Amino acid sequence: MPTPILVLNCGSSSVKYQMIDVDSEAVLASGLVEKIGLGDGNITHKTNGAEYRIDENIEDHTEALALVTRAFKTWGPPIESAVAVGHRTVHGGETYRETTLITDAVIQGLTELAGLAPLHNPPAIDGIKAAQTALPNVPHVAIFDTAFFSTLPAEAYTYAIDRATAEKYHIRKYGFHGTSHSYVSKKAAEFLGLDLGAINQIVCHLGNGASVSAIRGGVAVDTSMGLTPLAGLVMGTRSGDIDPGVFAYLEREAGLDAAAVDTLLNKHSGMAGLADGSSDFRDLWTKVEAGDAHAALALDVYIHRLVSYIGSYLAVLGHTDLLVFTAGVGENDERIRARVVDRLAGFGIRLAAARNTPRNRVPTLISSDDSTVKVLVIPTNEELAMARETYQVIRAAR
Ligand code: ADP
Repeated sequence: MPTPILVLNCGSSSVKYQMIDVDSEAVLASGLVEKIGLGDGNITHKTNGAEYRIDENIEDHTEALALVTRAFKTWGPPIESAVAVGHRTVHGGETYRETTLITDAVIQGLTELAGLAPLHNPPAIDGIKAAQTALPNVPHVAIFDTAFFSTLPAEAYTYAIDRATAEKYHIRKYGFHGTSHSYVSKKAAEFLGLDLGAINQIVCHLGNGASVSAIRGGVAVDTSMGLTPLAGLVMGTRSGDIDPGVFAYLEREAGLDAAAVDTLLNKHSGMAGLADGSSDFRDLWTKVEAGDAHAALALDVYIHRLVSYIGSYLAVLGHTDLLVFTAGVGENDERIRARVVDRLAGFGIRLAAARNTPRNRVPTLISSDDSTVKVLVIPTNEELAMARETYQVIRAAR
């Protein structure tokens, strides 16, 4: 008996969805609504190997969810077959430390947290309300990007700023991409037949957004993202770590206000900022091969920052069993993996070049047999992880 779960990931102008049978792990349908509120919207819906599309103006998330419902009705499978809906919710703040059944009180709580993630939480709340209207008879569940990192010790999550200000405004490290770090670390242990509780791992989630985590016995003890997903590694368009003095400096010298600096650091920095607009690693390598010095430096900075974090987490963990790569760059870009691991030779961490193949779709061991740390590529699957978490919550609530 299949158990279909609908998982939704609502951005400000998009909705990504999948209907997944958690028993067989089969994707029954998937789709994407784009350009919500931008005048020329569209939906693509995939099921049974076919892809369908509707182009029409989509005003808001209510219309987007109505279109998703229509797509399921027209092309299948029946949306009513979903036993629950899981909603990706970026920021759980200090309130939501685990996957949570959505009630009116939870919606109110999320609304109060919107200030912590103004770009991410409001569209998620719109999506939840619209999905509850479209599917009123099934439980809805919120899965938080921050939840996996609620176990960080105080020494790792506390910023060294005035305590009263930090407490009043809830300023601390929260961490993001938790669903992926959690899924991938469990999968890595399972793949090697190891007891998750007995091993330490460093997980590098390298996509457009990127973060690295230190995981001791399955429990997160540090991560590179912070109060917001801007901290840590160099990303597609985000700067990652930078001297916080840059805000006052740019205000004084360039006349930029906080909002302008925020946009600069989030949208016009990272690889795109360094390499004249290129944030996709395939483009970056093409540029490097053509002799582009900006792209070459961008890659050097990216590798340097990542290696610095891995080195730091080797020290935090004391003993590390696994180094795991995942997400778009981590899974596909063997050159990045090779350059990172080359820099870790002093720790006895070594790749087997023949195992370090591009575009890994399945879990793969890529280290040499004599490496002190096993290096793996584990494809992430945030949608499946969300579907499983949703199912666990509704089973527990029954
Ligand atoms: P997100 O979910 O954060 O948007 P992904 O995890 O899908 O991002 O990663 C997207 C990135 O993965 C792209 O920007 C690109 O840089 C990188 N990527 C995808 N395929 C390849 C490839 N074959 N080689 C190198 N990089 C790739």
